[in-house]
Amino acid sequence: HATKKKMADHLRKYEALFTLTPQRMRMIVEAFKESLETGLAKNEQIVPMIPTYVFGWPSGNETGDYLAVDLGGTNLRVCLVTLQGGGKFEITQSKYRLSEEQKQEDGQKLFDFCAECLKAFIDSYIDDGTIKAGTRLPLGFTFSYPCAQKSIDHGQLIRWTKGFGAPNTEGHDVVEMFRRSLEKQNVPAEIVALTCDTTGTLIASHYVNPKTRIACIFGTGCNAAYMERVGDIPKIKHLGIPDDEEMAINCEWGAFDSFEHENLPRTKYDQIIDETSNKPGEQAFEKLISGRYLGEILRLIICELIDEGVLFLGQNTYKIEIPYSFDTAFLSLMESDPTDELLMIIGIFSHFFALETTLAERQFFRALAKLVGRRAARLSACGIAAIVSKKGYLEEGCMVGADGSLYNKYPGFAERIHEGLHDIFGEKGRNVVTYHAEDGSGIGSAIVAAMTKQRK
Ligand code: ADP
Repeated sequence: HATKKKMADHLRKYEALFTLTPQRMRMIVEAFKESLETGLAKNEQIVPMIPTYVFGWPSGNETGDYLAVDLGGTNLRVCLVTLQGGGKFEITQSKYRLSEEQKQEDGQKLFDFCAECLKAFIDSYIDDGTIKAGTRLPLGFTFSYPCAQKSIDHGQLIRWTKGFGAPNTEGHDVVEMFRRSLEKQNVPAEIVALTCDTTGTLIASHYVNPKTRIACIFGTGCNAAYMERVGDIPKIKHLGIPDDEEMAINCEWGAFDSFEHENLPRTKYDQIIDETSNKPGEQAFEKLISGRYLGEILRLIICELIDEGVLFLGQNTYKIEIPYSFDTAFLSLMESDPTDELLMIIGIFSHFFALETTLAERQFFRALAKLVGRRAARLSACGIAAIVSKKGYLEEGCMVGADGSLYNKYPGFAERIHEGLHDIFGEKGRNVVTYHAEDGSGIGSAIVAAMTKQRK
């Protein structure tokens, strides 16, 4: 085709759109730092910087048996955790699938179901002698939805996210609701702490690896938590907690740059995603980074090239034109295809989208995936760098516990974060190292429960 631009020419255009220079990254880090400070100073800022009422790091010597319940987006997870001290633990767990109906029916019923599952779980361990009959175990409750907390064992649900819509729950204290369900069914468990998965990840990772200072989640969404000096959290000054105590902060950093859109390099594909999302303007940082969106960014580029007549002329493209049909896991697969012919990519396009591809097109798609994935990792590095820089961790270095499918499964994601940190900080950037975090909603939640018991 005479007018058809070579794929390589097209690629150059996207390279220019998706590449972040070190200088640009440093500007983002500065703005990010400011946003973190503002969130600590006042309520209802763009980055919420939520106080968690988890005070200080675990000693590593927390011991005892704890229950942990995690009401996740797809599953209810119930765990029995034995903390053995010395950073060691044992864990057993059961998962219960949540139906779409359960997510929408009355909130108290949802907690009744949680209590029912927990009761069945405890009973099975009483039967086999693991738990002594008559004991009432302390329970850590992981509830990763935005809550207003005034203490560690209280949390008023601000609004449901992740597809939940159970009525009579928003505005209510979820600990109180869960406690009511436990009492109704005589479940021998005492809720002592309410946490979110990111805070749990921070605490669990530090328990095992005391050099950990920050935890990040890169899954469907993205978030981070770290430990802050109470004196540096002006918005909770009125509580009269001594300045030198420390409290974990749940950043909810996915909201960075929301509404104002002044700091992040958004392409027109990012804008389309934002405008067609159910929450336009919100979670601006998350929309460039998390697993929910990366596949969609690539899909929008492909659709643009279909419209321009560059790709798939004469083929039926309706399948790839369905929003969110291109999973981020496909990007992982495309990047890791080991064959010269890119057979994996042939498979993805033919099997899932009924499309035939040429080798040049497949190479182009792989290069696009790399651009989108690399940008996400480098922006993640900016967020980490903002916390590192704010806290002055660069000189001595620190570890960053990271979790979520994007971090764990996307090839090279961690390496790209590290490369980004090096671009931002120079050689010293190598002092900041991410690693696969410990399980926050099981172990982390149990440790927080143990810390709370000790403090009382
Ligand atoms: P969640 O954050 O919902 O608890 P995950 O950490 O598993 O769960 O993240 C799910 C997200 O990760 C989804 O958006 C999905 O598209 C993406 N994902 C799943 N598998 C992979 C993979 N192999 N590579 C990259 N992303 C993936």
